[in-house]
Amino acid sequence: MECAGPDHPINRNQRAWKYAFVGYALGMRTDYHMHTPLCGHAIGAPRDYVLAAKRMELGEIGFSDHNPMPTQFDNWRMAPDQLPHYVQMVREVQEEFPDYPIRLGLECDYLPNYEGYIEYLATQAEWDYLIGSVHYVTPDWDIDNPKHLKRWDEQPVEEIWQAYFDAYTKMVESCLFDFLAHPDLVKKFGHRPEGDLSRFYKGTLDAIAEAGAVLEVSTAGLRKDVREIYPSRDFLVAAHLRNIPIVINSDAHSPKEVAADFDLAYTLARDVGYREVMMFKGRKAIPVAIS
Ligand SMILES: [Zn+2]
Ligand SMILES: [Zn+2]
Repeated sequence: MECAGPDHPINRNQRAWKYAFVGYALGMRTDYHMHTPLCGHAIGAPRDYVLAAKRMELGEIGFSDHNPMPTQFDNWRMAPDQLPHYVQMVREVQEEFPDYPIRLGLECDYLPNYEGYIEYLATQAEWDYLIGSVHYVTPDWDIDNPKHLKRWDEQPVEEIWQAYFDAYTKMVESCLFDFLAHPDLVKKFGHRPEGDLSRFYKGTLDAIAEAGAVLEVSTAGLRKDVREIYPSRDFLVAAHLRNIPIVINSDAHSPKEVAADFDLAYTLARDVGYREVMMFKGRKAIPVAIS
């Protein structure tokens, strides 16, 4: 699959045109990273997420549960045969709330050698977007899983961070996804190499800019040990310098997390210089002015 590249419609020239009709007219907030109980570690019915989003005055939302794998693989995703059920759950809330835009997405784990499977998943529904995530630094270590915490003591933090960002860069270069989740998830439990961390960020950021990809700013990190938005401010400053577009999400695993801490995330984005975020429909990114 070809990367969108810098000539993609999210590029600035065409953005200016769309502003007049979409962005400035709406100025709404969105949340495209929300889970369902199908993954086994989220709670609340989809309709409760919708009601929460309406209460938070979001203008548009999307579900994006963890993708199935060809085998069960781990215990935090839907079973291999549950994808139609997931799609049906989202279609049902779309029917229940016909005047409220609810998009259909999927959060896909990037693992080397599974690219073909992601391409297969891409054909299995009329997705509005696919999210790319790196949770696995090796096929048996999902880095955000507390059950593997002791592995952090078994090798240098530097090496783990490097493995994470190397995997993230490979994910970017696969060009399989519409936006890229929680960019520095590797900091979740607070493990961090010494000194300036831009040495880990640079290669990944260059690849994102080159691919014309969209980056997620996630408030989920504020709810984890690290108590920080993903990505760090330094990472986001460097992303803005490269004109990398963003989308702001909560990664809600319960209705009460929908749009959680969005004021903090929007303030950070604005401080760093962002004036727009991306909306998603039919696997196209559409800019909207930050509100
Ligand atoms: Zn999850
Ligand atoms: Zn998620």
